[in-house]
Amino acid sequence: MQMYSGHINKLIEELSQLPGIGDKSAQRLAFHLINMKEDKVKRLADTIVSAKANVKYCKECYTLTDSDVCPVCSNANRNHKIIMVVETVRDLAAYEKTGKYEGVYHVLHGAISPMMGIGPGDIKLKELIARLENDVDEVIIATNSSLEGETTAMYISKLVKPTGIKVTRIASGVPVGGDLEYIDEVTLLRALEGRTEL
Ligand code: ZN
Repeated sequence: MQMYSGHINKLIEELSQLPGIGDKSAQRLAFHLINMKEDKVKRLADTIVSAKANVKYCKECYTLTDSDVCPVCSNANRNHKIIMVVETVRDLAAYEKTGKYEGVYHVLHGAISPMMGIGPGDIKLKELIARLENDVDEVIIATNSSLEGETTAMYISKLVKPTGIKVTRIASGVPVGGDLEYIDEVTLLRALEGRTEL
């Protein structure tokens, strides 16, 4: 059924493939875009293309950044011997927002999920292990408390333990299945301070 023009249908189809955008939202966004002034649409499109072209992984922690090494990793005042392992860039941002964490990060870009066919080789795990050859005192595992997050935490702790480096897990004050980015700063800090050795 072709309710709309081919171009609008195509736009709706592309938008509906974005996370969290269902058919209704995609339609709303498509009509909003069509009704926007041409220069604004162009600026939006250019911003997307330029972000895609210029954003890269930090060489050390694998967060997304405009430079080779992100601002956290290039900050000499941070404690580079403490590495907090998070699933996503948004989780990193949530901890950075607290302003209380002094160490550095490692972004996995996902979690192990046998159900979704995501194995250890699909996330930045070997990159983490490579970093452990540097002088590291502690690895804080701050993956989510979902099944995938816990599976990943177990896997990492098994990999790190033989190196003799201290491995800790953030406290489970974080609601089960909760995305770290939606948790308030106080809860995040409590989870960090209450971390336990694995
Ligand atoms: Zn970095």
